[in-house]
Amino acid sequence: MKVLVVNAGSSSLKYQMIDTKTETVSAKGICERIGIEGSLIEHKQLEKGLKIKEEKPMKNHADAMALVVEKLLDSEYGCITSMDEIEAVGHRIVHGGPYFSKSIRLDDQVLQTLRRCHDFAPLHTGAHIQGIEGCLAVMPQKPQVLVFDTAFHQTMAPEAFMYALPYELYEKYAVRRYGAHGTSHRFVTAEMTKILGRVEGTKIVTCHIGNGSSISAVKDGKVIDTSMGFTPLAGVEMGTRCGDIDPAIVPYMMEKLNLSTKEVGDLMNKKSGFLGVTSGYSSDSRDLEAAISAGPSDPHYERAALAVNMLKHQIKKYIGGYAALMNGLDAVVFTAGIGENNPHLREIVCEDMDFFGIKIDKEVNAKAWRQDNIIKLSAADSRVAVYLIPTNEELMIARDTEAIVTCKSL
Ligand code: ADP
Repeated sequence: MKVLVVNAGSSSLKYQMIDTKTETVSAKGICERIGIEGSLIEHKQLEKGLKIKEEKPMKNHADAMALVVEKLLDSEYGCITSMDEIEAVGHRIVHGGPYFSKSIRLDDQVLQTLRRCHDFAPLHTGAHIQGIEGCLAVMPQKPQVLVFDTAFHQTMAPEAFMYALPYELYEKYAVRRYGAHGTSHRFVTAEMTKILGRVEGTKIVTCHIGNGSSISAVKDGKVIDTSMGFTPLAGVEMGTRCGDIDPAIVPYMMEKLNLSTKEVGDLMNKKSGFLGVTSGYSSDSRDLEAAISAGPSDPHYERAALAVNMLKHQIKKYIGGYAALMNGLDAVVFTAGIGENNPHLREIVCEDMDFFGIKIDKEVNAKAWRQDNIIKLSAADSRVAVYLIPTNEELMIARDTEAIVTCKSL
């Protein structure tokens, strides 16, 4: 089945045409600056290796969708000859609130419920709805499927997802842990359980470490805990997000620095993490690694090393804590931008973990970056399997879309 996967952001719309039979991408691209002056589309035809970048006015997501379809049908840059070839559309949805525990086919009722997720992720939900409405405008008859980043985490028990706040906050405002990156955690879990040869009885820690990072404990193929919380600010240190801090720091900073709620939110979401610890040097792990490699003479060496060591320390705590929760560990998976491309971080995370039975092959690990394939990082005598598994959220969305449209089980 040919599925158009759509990931709509507030002013952008990413897309991929995926054939679920061959699991290949024939075209992909991004519309940027939607609703802003200078909007443009960057489109790639992967079968022919062609690329085009065009500035075209797009006042909303419906305009962007119309342009995407135009490019997909283009005689030179396109990958289909008729709209009939697009059999379904799969949408990435960041937050399904407490309402969605698995992917679902769009109808009026589902759209209504999605609107209720607005409070949990205001920027994203609004954009997703615009993306969906854009598709409805351009191809009203096509089946559309919603795939939620929170859904995979819905198997957590209350003792994992509840906060020790007054219970009424949960009842009235649905304040609880939801987690994020669920589609990625689900994808790498599926790959890892294939390698292990079973789902039942498996105990896996999946580390999605990128600009945003989250770690999950997956037992029997189901999430029992995850590091992100009510929002994607919780958990480990990230590119610009602080991750877990003592909540008392929030009112303290607001008082001392005279910050509004928005300002304190911006400080924790946009000015913290790698960027904050290095006093504005960089949020990108490549820059931090460059400073570390350059050595103590580099002006950013000390802080870059501190920021990276903080992340290492936190990831180790999650792996240890999750092994305790699952009463064992079969595999640790690294994925996403940093997890897939930063051998140094993986090496220091896995160092001195023989208590847990984790031992990586340092030579294999050192060469494992910018690879499209799954790589076994663990040494032959490691009790726990350690793998690099490149994530592929779009493929997961396409697979779900096909399964739902053809009434197969997920
Ligand atoms: P997002 O969470 O926005 O999807 P990514 O998963 O792409 O982000 O992760 C971005 C991080 O991954 C950056 O810190 C970047 O340095 C790192 N990264 C991405 N690609 C590479 C690469 N080829 N080599 C080293 N680091 C990389």
